[in-house]
Amino acid sequence: MPLVTTAEMFKKAYDGGYAVGAFNVNNMEIVQGITEACQEQKAPVVLQVSKGARAYANHTYLVKMVEAAVIECPDVPIALHLDHGPDFETCKACIDGGFTSVMIDASSKPFDENVEITKKVVEYAHAHGVVVEAELGTLAGVEDDVKVSAEDSSYTHPEEVEEFVTRTGCDSLAIAIGTSHGAYKFTPDQCTRNEQGILVPPPLRFDVLEEVSKRLPGFPIVLHGSSSVPQDFVQMINAHGGKMPDAIGIPEEELRHAAQLSVCKINIDSDIRLAITATIREYFDAHPDHFDPRQYLKPARQAVKDMVTHKLINVLGCNGKA
Ligand SMILES: [Zn+2]
Repeated sequence: MPLVTTAEMFKKAYDGGYAVGAFNVNNMEIVQGITEACQEQKAPVVLQVSKGARAYANHTYLVKMVEAAVIECPDVPIALHLDHGPDFETCKACIDGGFTSVMIDASSKPFDENVEITKKVVEYAHAHGVVVEAELGTLAGVEDDVKVSAEDSSYTHPEEVEEFVTRTGCDSLAIAIGTSHGAYKFTPDQCTRNEQGILVPPPLRFDVLEEVSKRLPGFPIVLHGSSSVPQDFVQMINAHGGKMPDAIGIPEEELRHAAQLSVCKINIDSDIRLAITATIREYFDAHPDHFDPRQYLKPARQAVKDMVTHKLINVLGCNGKA
């Protein structure tokens, strides 16, 4: 099947009590690792591209790699999505350039300005058969060009969501309920420590999610910054020359719970980066004489595939839903 929008996959996810994974792609091995897992598990998927990915890999290379995945994974609905579109021009370039979904992130702007920019993107996107994700509330953390300090972050105000969705006509809404971008989602002083000395983050604000869902029945909600930062990867990195003390993510049980509610899309990027880096660090330690990139990128790609398979089955619940 050709690239699809997220409209049908979100409707099925909402009704079915699961979420679709949205994984960031930056190179061939990442595209292959993700989509091979989805093909095997018969899972719909969103492949998303940030402004940073377009700067790194080039728009055309990314689109063509995703189109190759569409050919290689004939049983799986795949949407190609712009992650954190910063302005109308970037969204337009992706809509004109083969994407089936775009995010316009004007969440740092005042409410009325966010509405105005989002509405303009929605009008252009819908005229071209493309769907739009918007954002209300601001996540903390660092991801590519998006950097927000904890002090400047804010939870979504549920009383704003109906007016925002009605005025903009957006197709899905990213909200802030305590997830965060990057591999250091919380500082140690925001957390408690368990018996093993591992940081335990503050819980997500499910009360905010429930209030939003009550006001927008049937409407797909999106969670950004939802890597879990598996401690196995962090320990592998630190054991093989890396230095990532106190890297911490969102517990998978909380994401599983969100997926059963109105959350239809869960964004995962840092866990891909950690899987690749941990695998390559371990590989280089074990094989200091190897220098063929295929030798260490092959297990790195396999690590992405294994990690994504785990997410599809145990966190998102979208396996078998293609
Ligand atoms: Zn994000």
